Amino acid sequence: MNHTLAEYEPVVGSASIRQLRQLGSRLAGTRLVHINSTREGGGVAEILNWMVPLMRDIGIDASWEVITGPPRFYEVTKAIHNGLQGMPAQLSAKDWALLRDVNAAWADQHKASLQEADVVIVHDPQPAFLIDYCRNGKSKWIWRAHIDISHPYRPVWKNLRDTVEKYDASIFSLNAFAQPLPHPQYLVPPSIDPLSDKNCDLTRAEIKRVCRQVGLDCSRPVLLQVSRFDRFKDPVGVIKAYQIVRRVTPVQLVLAGGGAADDPEGNAVYQEVLNAAEGDADIHVLLLPPDAHRVINALQRVADIVLQKSIKEGFGLTVTEAMWKGKPVIGGDTGGICLQVFNYQTGFLVSTPEGAAHRIRFLLDHRRRLDRMGTIAHEFVRENFLLTRHLREYLTLVFALTRAESERILYI
Ligand code: UDP
Repeated sequence: MNHTLAEYEPVVGSASIRQLRQLGSRLAGTRLVHINSTREGGGVAEILNWMVPLMRDIGIDASWEVITGPPRFYEVTKAIHNGLQGMPAQLSAKDWALLRDVNAAWADQHKASLQEADVVIVHDPQPAFLIDYCRNGKSKWIWRAHIDISHPYRPVWKNLRDTVEKYDASIFSLNAFAQPLPHPQYLVPPSIDPLSDKNCDLTRAEIKRVCRQVGLDCSRPVLLQVSRFDRFKDPVGVIKAYQIVRRVTPVQLVLAGGGAADDPEGNAVYQEVLNAAEGDADIHVLLLPPDAHRVINALQRVADIVLQKSIKEGFGLTVTEAMWKGKPVIGGDTGGICLQVFNYQTGFLVSTPEGAAHRIRFLLDHRRRLDRMGTIAHEFVRENFLLTRHLREYLTLVFALTRAESERILYI
């Protein structure tokens, strides 16, 4: 369900809403197109689901397009994604040619609308080559990287960089990801929608129903990780941490995930997780449909501790979601998780299953500390990672790129 800007006022305050309306009035009628590679699954789709309707509510002529291709396209783009996150990825000239061909074919069908846009925001590498087939000098093109490219596998980044350099600007989630590029780079961390099904308040009855469906015993502690089945999310490391804790405390573990349409590795990783779980009845591995937002919401509320033990993480919306629900998060000491998790404040940063187990035991043994950290986590998200801040930064950037020059004003 789409919400209007006015509906967020009780959560974020009237000043934020007023500021957005002012920015919106300066940008009214601006044609802005977002392009990514999946409408469901993963953080980018999660963000675009609220951002596009809210931009429209503010007066921007925003739309969202999804590039599609044959199965091999997604295998190649996933390898590029892995390469950008530092994994050696072997991509042949044929693979890069396929990527270009899919971008060219898609551009052929959408060129007219992209060339009429004032701003095109291209998310992640999959549609990055569209600029080569659509640019006409009128639109501003922005490349928005959602992944951790702080230490990319150089041959992969080099191939992509030659194209990214042609953009007018790029956006990264944190400064560690910025790269030497010949255009302005902006730092905009992601955010969550507090009114969405994923994050809204739920009744006790609904939470209990989900517990029953999953088969959780509400009298024993619950650990949770919500993630696509992706090796960078280290679900097997989470199982190892659980197994260490389990020796002394009767905890339960939920690993909830699903696929993303543009992620072909999900099934293989899911099987690895099932193997690692070894049929343990207290490990609940849930393969959820893409619209299971309320189930995930309920699980995040029922969990005592949420984990996000990623090895690489652009941001980790799942961390934000859990913190918003007043949960301390034990997160991998990497990327955007470090923007959100602070030791003894909002959770703990860890690098190993043993470290995660140690922190889980600490929190389970110090319940008042756990609750207090959850309260701090919730407020931290309210101040930093709700959608109004995110939208304001995007609008400011769009304003700077399209109008500031002529109006000689820059609103920050
Ligand atoms: N998510 C979901 N279903 C799943 C797994 C994840 O809806 O089975 C959501 C999750 O709640 C979060 C997003 O997908 O909103 C994942 O974003 P994140 O930044 O954590 O990771 P990404 O998948 O983008 O790497």
